Amino acid sequence: MHDLIIIGGGPAGMTAAVYAARKKMDVLLITKEFGGQMMWTREIENYLGFQYITGPELINKFEEHVKKFPVNTRYEEVIRLSVAEDGAFRVTTDQEKYQGKTVIIASGKRPRRLGVPGEEEFTGRGVAYCATCDGPLYAGKAVAVVGGGNSALQAAIELSGIAEKVYLVVRGAYKADPVVVDKLEAAANVEVLRGYTAREIAGRDTVERFRIDSKERGEEKELDVQGIFVEIGLDPNSEFARETVKLNRYNEIAVDCRACSNIPGLFAAGDVASGPDKQIIIAAGDGAKAALVAYEYLLHRR
Ligand SMILES: Cc1cc2nc3c(=O)[nH]c(=O)nc-3n(C[C@H](O)[C@H](O)[C@H](O)COP(=O)(O)OP(=O)(O)OC[C@H]3O[C@@H](n4cnc5c(N)ncnc54)[C@H](O)[C@@H]3O)c2cc1C
Repeated sequence: MHDLIIIGGGPAGMTAAVYAARKKMDVLLITKEFGGQMMWTREIENYLGFQYITGPELINKFEEHVKKFPVNTRYEEVIRLSVAEDGAFRVTTDQEKYQGKTVIIASGKRPRRLGVPGEEEFTGRGVAYCATCDGPLYAGKAVAVVGGGNSALQAAIELSGIAEKVYLVVRGAYKADPVVVDKLEAAANVEVLRGYTAREIAGRDTVERFRIDSKERGEEKELDVQGIFVEIGLDPNSEFARETVKLNRYNEIAVDCRACSNIPGLFAAGDVASGPDKQIIIAAGDGAKAALVAYEYLLHRR
């Protein structure tokens, strides 16, 4: 029976682990890997203390920090979280079962899919969800990016320095920061196709064509591309807890301003939680807060 089980090894989970270990709690951190979404981020300019750092560099620093403390880490996938009659939590992974007096869910988010024919078939063979990870495979080729938010525009900017041609397929208006839009507009090899929706991905062994259409214009286009980067948002990794804890309409774990869910002893932090803004520094702050609240909860329970 652990004092605290943390699910997720992104900035929220890693920060929670450091705070809990410094309170001498017996902490078990279960994560598929260390890093989370920072693995997909090339440029971070808004994490205080680092005017510029890449995602993988910041992860290494976080990981080094966590490893200074006695945090028991398991690289497993949580598939179910439940509460027993005595109030203890049961965490089932793809390999083991664990018990905790408290749990912090910090399992973050994953990329949303387009849901068009060919997407599943060509995933890993031209369809990608991370420009930072897979961009270099498309040096000198033509690629499309789908989406109109910060992630999509940043992906298009990043790919413009690698690929020969980048099409940015945007359904409606941009939902990106003005500074990012300015950078995109300065990229010479990006063609913005506004008002278009993805319809089909086709090819033989790998992606060769991307069919998009605009209902408004009554127009259809076929782009000759070798890569398609899907950047249309993220879904929370909350499925393993959905029968146990209250979720909001976006399937995020509903928490109050102290990271408390509707179940006593169960907390959530970072992108998987219902807080409105999703950033590394916010996830880290949430993780710290959740660990301190879990510590306080245990003190009062004893
Ligand atoms: C392309 C991109 C660029 C970004 N750029 C910036 C930026 O410049 N600055 C900034 O502040 N923010 C940026 N963000 C946002 C930032 O990365 C997130 O807000 C932050 O990573 C959220 O941290 P988290 O710990 O809540 O979740 P995540 O980073 O998503 O980490 C979740 C962790 O949980 C693990 N996990 C998930 N499900 C399970 C499971 N079932 N069992 C076990 N483990 C599980 C995952 O493996 C992962 O380790 C960016 C995001 C993206 C996608």
